[in-house]
Formats: sequence, C-alpha cells, structure tokens
Amino acid sequence: MLDRAASSIAVKADDRDAALKALGISEACTAPSGLAVHSPIDGSLLATVATDTPASIDAKIARSAAAFAEWRTLPAPRRGEFVRLLGEALRSAKADLAALVTLEAGKITTEALGEVQEMIDICDFAVGLSRQLHGLTIQSERPEHKMAEVWHPMGPVGVISAFNFPVAVWAWNAALALVCGDSVIWKPSEKTPLVAFACARLFAQAAAAFGGVPDGLLEVLIGDRAAGEQLVADPRVPIISATGSSAMGRIVGARVADRFGRAILELGGNNAMIVAPSADLSLAIPAILFGAVGTCGQRCTSTRRLFVHGDIYDEVIDRLHRSYATLAIGDPREEGTLVGPLIDGGAYRIMQSVLDDARGKAVRVVGGERMYGEVGEAFYVRPAIVEFGDDISNVQEETFAPILSVFRYTDLADAIARNNAVPQGLSSSIFTNDVREAELFTAAVGSDCGIANVNLGTSGAEIGGAFGGEKATGGGRESGSDAWRGYMRRQTQTTNYGATLPLAQGVKF
Ligand code: NAD
Repeated sequence: MLDRAASSIAVKADDRDAALKALGISEACTAPSGLAVHSPIDGSLLATVATDTPASIDAKIARSAAAFAEWRTLPAPRRGEFVRLLGEALRSAKADLAALVTLEAGKITTEALGEVQEMIDICDFAVGLSRQLHGLTIQSERPEHKMAEVWHPMGPVGVISAFNFPVAVWAWNAALALVCGDSVIWKPSEKTPLVAFACARLFAQAAAAFGGVPDGLLEVLIGDRAAGEQLVADPRVPIISATGSSAMGRIVGARVADRFGRAILELGGNNAMIVAPSADLSLAIPAILFGAVGTCGQRCTSTRRLFVHGDIYDEVIDRLHRSYATLAIGDPREEGTLVGPLIDGGAYRIMQSVLDDARGKAVRVVGGERMYGEVGEAFYVRPAIVEFGDDISNVQEETFAPILSVFRYTDLADAIARNNAVPQGLSSSIFTNDVREAELFTAAVGSDCGIANVNLGTSGAEIGGAFGGEKATGGGRESGSDAWRGYMRRQTQTTNYGATLPLAQGVKF
C-alpha cells in the first residue's frame, strides 16, 4: 500500500482561488449565504454559492421556454456549429475544468481529465449528428400520397445530475439537446455546483464566439432536491433527464409520468463481472481493479459483484488481494494516486454499515478501514473485498463505495442468472476466451443489462454507444447511437397530392 503523508493532503486557499479564477467563477463562489461546497479532498470549504428560490426557478424556466421558441428555428447544422464552439471552449479549458472536478468531486486527475474529454467527444458527436437528424419516408397505401416521419425539437430539457459525473452527464444531455433544437435547464448535484458555474461560463464563451444565442438557452438551477422537484413538476419542461439513485428516479419518474412528460432516467447500477476458466487473467485482474476501485467505487458502472469460476477462484482472489495491496490511495491531485476520497461522511458511514452486515455473512472481509483520519472531514478508505465463496446469496443493493463482493460459480448459466437476479440492470461483463460463452452472455438469454462487455470491464463506456440500463436503472438511454431521439418529438406526416380523398384501409364514407 503506497500510503501518502496525511499532512500533505490539504487544499490550500491559494490553489482553490487560482482554480476558481482560471475558470472565471470566483465571484459566484463568495455568496454571503447559501450552499456550502466542501472539497472531499480535505473537507475544507471551497465556496458558498447562492441558491435559487422558487421564484427564480420559475423565471429561469420561463426564460428557457422563450429561448427554445427561438432556438428551434435555427437550422440544425447551425446549432451544430454552436456545439462545435462549445467543444472548442471545453478543449481549451480541459485542464482547468478537470482540476475543478478533482477539487469538488475528489476524482483523480486522469479520471477528471477523462471526464472532460468525454464532454469534448460528445460535442464532436453532436456536431456530426446535427446534419443527420434523419427521419424516414414511408410507402403509403393510398395513391398520390406521401408519408414521412419528421423529427422536431421538443422543448426545454431539464437535466438533473449526480455528483459522481458532475460535468459529463450534463454534456451528454446538453450537446444532444442543443443540436436537436432544445434549450437546457440544468440542476447539478448540490454537492458539485461549482463545475456547473464553470460550464455555464464556457457556454457563454461559445455563445459569444457564435455571435450570440437566445438568452436562457442554458439555465442553471442551484439547489437541492427541492429545486429538482420544482423543475420536475413544471409542465413547461417536456423532457426530464435525471441521473442519480434509483430512489430519486422512482419519485421523478412517477412525477413526470403523472403530467405526461417524458423522463430519461439514468439510475443506479449493481454491476457484475463473470470470470470464466479460459479468461486471460492479465486482462481480467486490471479490469476488475479499475472497475471496483476506480473513482473510489463511485461510478454507476463500478464493478460491485464478481462471479469467478471455481477452477480459477483461488488464483483470482489471491491476485486481487495482491493488487489491492499495492493501490495508491490518497490525494487525488497527486500523480500516481489511483483511489481518491469518498464524496463525504455519509458515503463512508453507509459503506461501514454494509461491511458490518457483510462480516456476519461472508467468508472473509478485507479492507474498508478509514485512512488519513487526521485530515478531518475527508473520507479515504481502503477498498474492500468481501468473499462470499460458495454462498448462493446475491447483493441486491448498490452501495456507492469500493466494495467488491466475490462469489464462486461452477455453471455459466447459473452465473448469468445471478448476474441478472438483482433489481438493477446497467452494466455487465464477462472475461472468457471461449466463443460460445461470450455469445451466450451477449445473447437474448444472456445478460439483461443495457451494457454487456466481453473481455473488458463494466465501467468506462465510450460516448458512441447508447448509454443506460434496464429495470431499476431506469431504462433511459443517453449519449451515442440514436439516443438523440429522446430529445425530439416524432411527427408522422401524410400529404395527399392527388385530386381524390381515398381513406386508409379502403373505408368508404
Ligand atoms: P442522488 O439521487 O442523491 O441525486 C442525484 C440528483 O437528483 C441530485 O441533483 C439531487 O439533488 C437530485 N434529486 C434527488 N431527489 C430528487 C427529487 N425527488 N426530485 C428531483 N431531483 C432530485 O444521487 P447521487 O448520490 O448524487 O449520485 C449517485 C447515484 O447516481 C448512484 O446511484 C449512481 O449509480 C447514480 N448514477 C447513475 C448514472 C447512470 O448513468 N445510470 C450516472 C451517474 C450516477
């Protein structure tokens, strides 16, 4: 274990001020009262930001609706040009924005840079998409009739995001929504509002380079759950894209359905990996490590359950323990650190209670101890491995912390069934060099998740594919493929260019 000196884990006021200044958000961070934003690195106060009131939220939604009315009239490729400039602004600010993600969310530098790269990637994707918002032409059964399917902008998109991907989730939604002709109202996590200010600044920069966009094209709502609830309830916002826990999605989904809105839900995962006898362990072990301890186990796609075939179980467990023993845990800004802090004390306490419970059931529990306790309100932990061996129980809940539960299996069909036998359905993976096993895992009778990977881990998706999962993960899809359709309304158009009025299905009237 490459432990670091606790004394060096501190966010210096000068460093914090420089980070805020580099992104031009110092002023927004010195409100006399409001939301206190703490860094998970050392628990220190980063900023106090003013929160929105019900009246200011109402005004922002009105501005967004007005911006939509104008923005939708711009040709989509022009909208794409704006998103291209947004991507350029993100490129030029990549290091600064990533540094703020690290300060505010505690991500290690390489992951924070990766998150901003993901924003740039989705902008690039959306630029191309702006010339490809294709519909269909459909053969009509009636003479001299033409049928077509056309995609129109839909309205303001409410984006509610979680703390763990504090900027990428906004970009996934915003880049697509903007080329689709929608305005965006963003309610970032109350744990990470500063990055939202930074993104809004970069957005304004791109707008200036574009020659102006409608006022209110991007609105940011600062607040907690109540601000989100107001956004979710407002009928002027036809689409709500909400990313967070399944508990949140259960409430939001019902509320949006109640007013016949459209919800895109990206909720919790409880992701499993299967390691088969033929697996190349030189790939599987680092994939497990990245999946289980990356972002300190705080990814929706983190590997939480591991099913290892009996023939290789002991070897895999042994190698995992050896890898865990060399993990560099500590200040996420320091080069070489692989595991940064948990987001806060609440996350730490939940992790401890889950481990306490596991100690009564599992064969062996290793890790989970708090580290650098002397740093104060910062919560560093040794990632935990919980060995369940032949226990046929499963882990039903997502715990947003680095806990890997390991089970032994003998029959692949059984391992796949256990992969599926949880409420969530986000990501899944198998390591095997047996083509039949790989095909079974990805077949209709295989993994029931939105993401199924072969010989790579559960986390770290590319933006080109549609991202999301089934069941308690919410069923939403964002990012690549045809996820853009979620941000538009489909209109079936039939035109009669003849001189008679034939009715469909041969009806005479
Ligand atoms: P959270 O559910 O506590 O909060 C997420 C967001 O929802 C916050 O902005 C919060 O203010 C808001 N919110 C909470 N209750 C609300 C309500 N009733 N109405 C409107 N808004 C409400 O989640 P978190 O702790 O910030 O993030 C961790 C969770 O997010 C994990 O479960 C993780 O798996 C999930 N997540 C999922 C994805 C995905 O794409 N599937 C991506 C990232 C995170």
